[in-house]
Amino acid sequence: MGKAYRLTEHAYDVVVVGAGGAGLRATLGMTASGLSTACITKVFPTRSHTVAAQGGMSAALANMGEDDWRWHMYDTVKGSDWLGDQDAIEYMCREAIPAVVELEHYGVPFSRTDDGRIYQRPFGGMTTRFGEGIAQRTCAAADRTGHAILHTLYQQSLKHNAEFFIEYFAIDLLMNDEGACKGVLAWDLATGELHVFRAQMVLLATGGYGRTYFSCTSAHTCTGDGNAMVLRAGLPLQDMEFVQFHPTGIYGSGCLITEGVRGEGGYLTNSDGERFMERYAPNAKDLASRDVVSRSMTIEINEGRGVGEEKDHIQLHLEHLGADLINSKLPGIAESARIFAGIDVTREPIPVLPTVHYNMGGIPTNYQGEVVTLRDGDPDHVIPGLMAIGEAACVSVHGANRLGSNSLLDLIVFGRAAAMRAVELVKPGQPHEPLNDAVVDKVLDRFDKMRFANGEIAVASLRIEMQKTMQNHAAVFRTGELIEKGLIRLQELLAQMESLRVSDRSMVWNTDLVEAIELLNLMPQAIVTAQSALNRTESRGAQARDDYPERDDENWMKHTLATIDESGRVAIQYRPVHMYTQTDEVEVIPPKARVY
Ligand SMILES: Cc1cc2nc3c(=O)[nH]c(=O)nc-3n(C[C@H](O)[C@H](O)[C@H](O)COP(=O)(O)OP(=O)(O)OC[C@H]3O[C@@H](n4cnc5c(N)ncnc54)[C@H](O)[C@@H]3O)c2cc1C
Repeated sequence: MGKAYRLTEHAYDVVVVGAGGAGLRATLGMTASGLSTACITKVFPTRSHTVAAQGGMSAALANMGEDDWRWHMYDTVKGSDWLGDQDAIEYMCREAIPAVVELEHYGVPFSRTDDGRIYQRPFGGMTTRFGEGIAQRTCAAADRTGHAILHTLYQQSLKHNAEFFIEYFAIDLLMNDEGACKGVLAWDLATGELHVFRAQMVLLATGGYGRTYFSCTSAHTCTGDGNAMVLRAGLPLQDMEFVQFHPTGIYGSGCLITEGVRGEGGYLTNSDGERFMERYAPNAKDLASRDVVSRSMTIEINEGRGVGEEKDHIQLHLEHLGADLINSKLPGIAESARIFAGIDVTREPIPVLPTVHYNMGGIPTNYQGEVVTLRDGDPDHVIPGLMAIGEAACVSVHGANRLGSNSLLDLIVFGRAAAMRAVELVKPGQPHEPLNDAVVDKVLDRFDKMRFANGEIAVASLRIEMQKTMQNHAAVFRTGELIEKGLIRLQELLAQMESLRVSDRSMVWNTDLVEAIELLNLMPQAIVTAQSALNRTESRGAQARDDYPERDDENWMKHTLATIDESGRVAIQYRPVHMYTQTDEVEVIPPKARVY
């Protein structure tokens, strides 16, 4: 089978997989510095999930009141619940300022103040003077910041002659026997041809893996393909137990319903019609913090008071607000509810569910974007030829919990840093050393196993079983017992991968096969997420264990590193959090309780 394919070969200095904000910023930096650069992407660049980011991107510019990048660093360390690496956080918050100015020079149409400077809005957890005041730190291009950034970076990359391979699906990394990355194999979805891309440096910018869960705000394409490639290479993923939930995604589609709805007076009810948040948070009620609301909703569902046929969601009411207020203050929400839930919010409640919003965990890297692992006692051992940035990576600047508007910042700062590092490491035009045929054959054999899968289980049915298992066993509400049951189910589902059916054998626009490969990628990420959550017997940031409700710095201020073998066995190690800074411009922020 496999060896029958005709392979088209390409040679570049660097190959970037992914054309979201992270991938495009790196592509631009590399190509503008004279490296021959290919950018491979499974969707058109400006359709990457970054396009959906509305709120903005943080940087202590002090355009709208006092600010200092050291305050931004403090907020980020606290937001991370002291799991973030402080050297990387220092770097991100300091470099945020030149990175935003640079974006503005590239042409991002930021909103303006009256005197023509970049407009900045307040965002959750962003403060002045180490928690005393409220900072206006988030730079925005109206409510389409991600959209503006993607279009600008794509145009700039084209101007600097980056070569784009659009609707090419990267299947796997090409790793040599010494464990160095030498390139990537990709499938051109439109022609059906397979391509070998050789590179001195492969940079993964493939985004998050929200689609391991039933309900997520991210695009259907967010399947963490790069993360799965790293696992298949026998390398670990870091801090996968930390998954951020937003309380109100539309049931079924996951489309985000902003907190502003509850700010305007919207409220949640269970199947008894009870406003249950009054019980859990007597003061803040429906406006308690995101994790508290998400947890309360989940308890209601688990105790049988969910609504709908499967009693598996909650209702969000706006009807009482009246059509005038809804049309003037929440027109976008009314539209989303109509399109994604088929309901009229002036008459009926919106079906909602705590929804996966962001993955703090991912491919461990240093602050220059190089992939690292724990090896021979060295916790920062660099894997040659491989980098990762953006939501796929875990630098780690978000630690156990990300602050809003710090992700777009992460994409740009570390996209830029990785490009600068690649320029140091790669000499333009170096010849590529020959690659053992077996390396490519191994990838093709796995591809064929999926392409010719002729069992009896459809991809969609196995996928939804996995997604519901994750939603019910490794979501907002976690106990050891609950996660263990989930893991048993996930192992059964992994075994069922052997009985998968892919009905279409064609190589051209075979979406059935694309989805099968995406499921092959999601499954191990689901398992390592659940196993990492089971092992961490404490509550920190997004990981809330009801059986271990306290943060435990003595035993758990460390990063989880999880690998998985083909039979689904997970091995877990830990590496220390970087409790040091890069410069003496700032001091380490010692851990204390995280209260707001
Ligand atoms: C609805 C929503 C709103 C948000 N709002 C904000 C906000 O206001 N501020 C903020 O800071 N953060 C926000 N976030 C988070 C932030 O937008 C994301 O973390 C970020 O955009 C991820 O960017 P990325 O470049 O890492 O990946 P993505 O933008 O997801 O791009 C991934 C890229 O990888 C490519 N790819 C993936 N797999 C393959 C493969 N196998 N082969 C080839 N190509 C592949 C895709 O084609 C795509 O180009 C929001 C997220 C969501 C979902």
